[in-house]
Amino acid sequence: MALQTQTIAEPARQIPVAYDADVVVVGAGPGGFAAALQAARMGARVVLVERFDMPGGVHTSGLQGSAGPGVGGIHTELMQRFAAQGYIYTATQDTLSDWAGNPLSHYERYLKPDASFTRQSFNPEGAGSVMATMLQEAGVTALYGTSFVDTIVDKGSGNDTIKAIVVENASGRQAITGRIFIEGSGTAQLAAAAGVPFVSGGGGQPASAQWDGINRPIPGGLLWIMSGIEFPRVAAHQKSANDPMLSKLIAEASAAGDLPPGLYRPRMGGKNIYGHIYIGHPTIDMSPMQTDGSFILWQNVPYEWALRMDESADDDARAKRELRAFIDAEVTFLKKYVPGFEKAVLNNVGRFVGVRDGRHPIGEHVFCLADVLAGRRFTDAVTKPISRAFHWDEHRKHDIEVSYRSFLPKQINNLLLTGASLSFTYDTIFMVMRNFPWCTQTGEIAGYAAARCIEKKILPKELEWREPYIF
Ligand SMILES: Cc1cc2nc3c(=O)[nH]c(=O)nc-3n(C[C@H](O)[C@H](O)[C@H](O)COP(=O)(O)OP(=O)(O)OC[C@H]3O[C@@H](n4cnc5c(N)ncnc54)[C@H](O)[C@@H]3O)c2cc1C
Repeated sequence: MALQTQTIAEPARQIPVAYDADVVVVGAGPGGFAAALQAARMGARVVLVERFDMPGGVHTSGLQGSAGPGVGGIHTELMQRFAAQGYIYTATQDTLSDWAGNPLSHYERYLKPDASFTRQSFNPEGAGSVMATMLQEAGVTALYGTSFVDTIVDKGSGNDTIKAIVVENASGRQAITGRIFIEGSGTAQLAAAAGVPFVSGGGGQPASAQWDGINRPIPGGLLWIMSGIEFPRVAAHQKSANDPMLSKLIAEASAAGDLPPGLYRPRMGGKNIYGHIYIGHPTIDMSPMQTDGSFILWQNVPYEWALRMDESADDDARAKRELRAFIDAEVTFLKKYVPGFEKAVLNNVGRFVGVRDGRHPIGEHVFCLADVLAGRRFTDAVTKPISRAFHWDEHRKHDIEVSYRSFLPKQINNLLLTGASLSFTYDTIFMVMRNFPWCTQTGEIAGYAAARCIEKKILPKELEWREPYIF
C-alpha cells in the first residue's frame, strides 16, 4: 500500500560534478538526439544523458520505427544512413497482397483493397546503433544508462538559470554543469523540475473532445514485434470465414476463457475524441516491420484508465504491468486461434510505455489551434510554412508556422525545448507537433540556437530569430 502523506528528510550532501559542458541535453529521442548532434557539429561541447542504452527514444527504444521520406537536414541524413546500413524495410502491394484496405492494418486500413502503397520502417535496434555512431562522430559525450533526476537552479525572480542537472548512473549521483540546457525527455521532465509552468497531459482538452466530461490524456502505448507470421494465411482466413477483424475468433477465445477481459474492447463513442482511436484494441492492430513476416503491434493504455505515466509512478507501474500482461495474452491468443500465427514468435517488447500526451510546458509563445485557423505568421518563424491537415478543422490543410518563442519556456532563461516537449496545446498534438520528422527538426533547430548562443555568449531568449532555418 503506497503511503501518500508521510515525508522523510533527505540529508543534504555533496555530489561530484562529473562533467561541465556548453550544452547539456536531457534525453536522446528524436529531439534531444538532433539537438546534441547539431550543437556538437557547430563546435559546442555537448553532454547528452539518456536513461536507455541508445538514442532514438520512442522510435528505437520504444520500437516505433516508422520511416518515410526525409524532410531535410538531420532527418534526411538519418533515413539515408539507415538505408545505407540495410536497416530500412519496405513493404508494398507486390510483397504484401491483401494488406491495403485490411482492417488489421494500422496505417493502410483506409485504402481501397489492392491500392498501391509503400510502407517503410527502420529496424529499431540497428537505427539506435547508427544514431549512437553519429553522436560519437560529432564528439558528443553521450552518457547512456544515465537518468536525469533533478536540477539545481539559481533563482532570479522569474528569470531563473539552471546551473546543473543531477543524474544517477552506475557511479551514483552526480551533477553536470552547463551554459545552456536542452529539454529532450519527451515529457518535459527537465522543464518541470526547473520550475517551468506546464499543463498536464489531457489538460486544456476542448469540451467536444471529452468523452464523459473528464480531461484524459491521449493514451500512451507499449509496442511489440512478432515475427514468423504467415500473412497470406491470415488473409485467407479473413476471406473464407468472412471474419475481417477476427472478431469470430476473438469471440471463440473469449467463450473458452482464453482472453482476459479488457483485451479487445468495443470502440468508445464520442465526437472528436482523439482517444477513440487509441483506447485499446477493439481489433488486432499491426504493421509490417523489419523483415518479411514480421509485424509491429500496438498495445495502448485503455483510455478510461486516464493514466499519466509521466507524472505518477503508480500509473507508470500499472501501465507496464498490465500492458505486458495484455501482450502476453494477445500472443497466446494469436498463436492458438489465428491461422498464420501458429509458428510466430514474440521478438521484442518496447523498453518503455511511450507517452503520447505528457506535460505541455508553457513557453513564451504556446502554439495553438487559433494560430492554425488564423494562419498566423511570425517574424521569428523557425521554418518556412509547413502544410498539414488539421483534425479539428475537418482535416482541411493549413500552412502553419511555429515561433522560435515556442522553444523558450517561461521562467528559465537558459533552457530550450524540443520534440514532444515543445510549447503547444493538446489540440495540436496530432497535426505536426509529435511527428518523428518534426521532433527531429525541432531538435536540430534547438541545437543550432544553442550553439549560436554559445558562440555569441548570449542566452536563448536574447537570440534574434529572423530567418527560417534551412534544413
Ligand atoms: C506509442 C507511440 C506511438 C507513436 N507513433 C508515432 C508514429 O507512428 N509516427 C510518428 O511520427 N510519431 C509517433 N509517435 C510520436 C513520436 O514518437 C514522439 O512524439 C517523439 O518520439 C517525441 O520525440 P522526443 O525526442 O521529444 O521524445 P521521446 O521519443 O519520448 O524521447 C525521449 C528520450 O528521453 C529519454 N529520457 C526520458 N526521461 C529521461 C530521464 N529522466 N533521464 C534520461 N533520459 C530520459 C528517453 O529514454 C528517450 O530516449 C508515437 C509516440 C508514442 C508514444
